[in-house]
Formats: sequence, C-alpha cells, structure tokens
Amino acid sequence: MPPLFGGAIACEILAVRPSLLTALLAPYLAVAPSASPQAVRYGVVMADARDSLEHTWTDSVRQVERAYCVVGWSIGVHHVTRQPPYMDDSLFRVYLVSPAAVRSAGTSTVDFDCPEGVPELHTHTPTTCLRGDPRECVLGGPDAFSCQPSRADLEKLQMRNDRFGVIQCDRRVFRFYFVDDYRRPPPVVAQPGASKPPSSTPDTATRGGTPPTRS
Ligand SMILES: [Zn+2]
Repeated sequence: MPPLFGGAIACEILAVRPSLLTALLAPYLAVAPSASPQAVRYGVVMADARDSLEHTWTDSVRQVERAYCVVGWSIGVHHVTRQPPYMDDSLFRVYLVSPAAVRSAGTSTVDFDCPEGVPELHTHTPTTCLRGDPRECVLGGPDAFSCQPSRADLEKLQMRNDRFGVIQCDRRVFRFYFVDDYRRPPPVVAQPGASKPPSSTPDTATRGGTPPTRS
C-alpha cells in the first residue's frame, strides 16, 4: 500500500479543471514544485475516479481499448531529506477522469489526445487477440492484463511532456508511468569507415521474437 504521506506532505500541487472539484479540494494548496532530485513516485487513483473506471470496465472478449483524460489530479511532494543530497518523494493523485474523444481504437491500440497539460489514461484489455481482430479474442492469454506501458505509450508521454500517464489493466488495477521510465537512445552517429552492424542475428530471426504491439 503506498503511503499517503499522512501529514508529512511538504507541498501539494493541484491541477483540477472543474471549478466544483477545485472547491472540494481546496485544502490541497497549489504551490511551486520542488526542484530536488526525485526519489520515489507513487500513484493513486482516488475513490470517485476509481469507481467510475471500475463501472465501465468490462471482461467482454469483444472490446477495444478505451481512453480518458485526467481532468482532476494533484501532486504531493514529501521532502525525504532536508540536507544535501536533497531528495523528494512524490504522490500523484487522480481525482476525476473524463472519456476522451477517440479517433480510432483496436484490441491493442487507441488513438486519442487529451488537451495540452491534461494527463492521459487508457485501458489495456483483459484479452488476447489473434491478428488484432476483436472476433478472435479470448479472455486471458499471454497478452491479457498487461500493465506495462508500451514503447508507443512512453514515447507519447515524452512528446506531450505530461507529468504522468496511467494504464488501467484490470477492474481495480492501475499503473502510473513517467517520462523518466523511458530514455530515448541518443542518435547513432556514423563513423567514417565503420562497418554496419547486422540488424539481427539468425538466432533472433529463428526464434521469431515479434515485439509486442500493444499500445
Ligand atoms: Zn498502452
């Protein structure tokens, strides 16, 4: 169970769209973020948001991914150390989500964008599907309940520069992910006269390790 930081929250940053929710969460005062190095990050989907996401979760074998915008959230910062080297823990709370406008969705993809500055949440289905065809999905299997953000998830997060993203991978299971989870490799600079490395080894090709496509 993640610590809720009790009364030890050093500061709380609030990012909430609806004015009603702002009033409800008034005790969470918006203050400047800390510039100290990050120690541990926790993520919690609070009761109202969790209830709505739990309500719309389905175990149907014929489903596609769904997407939401996180319209109410906050960051609590706890100063772990008060002397150098300084470190902060952070607690990300999600209070309210709203269905996103989805351009297209498949069994392992969903194409959508929330407004700038609004973090995103999407589902990973409880199914495994052959050829990405919803008619050929089964409940369970090797691709089901994956809470790992895909490369596409992480690259999108980095491109949007959101503070976090969230995956719902079961009725009450949520995975937060952060930009720091993904480090884009530096571009390869070709050296004059350097031989080109093989793109794959025969062993790799024989094993047929197709990278996961879920996003
Ligand atoms: Zn995903």
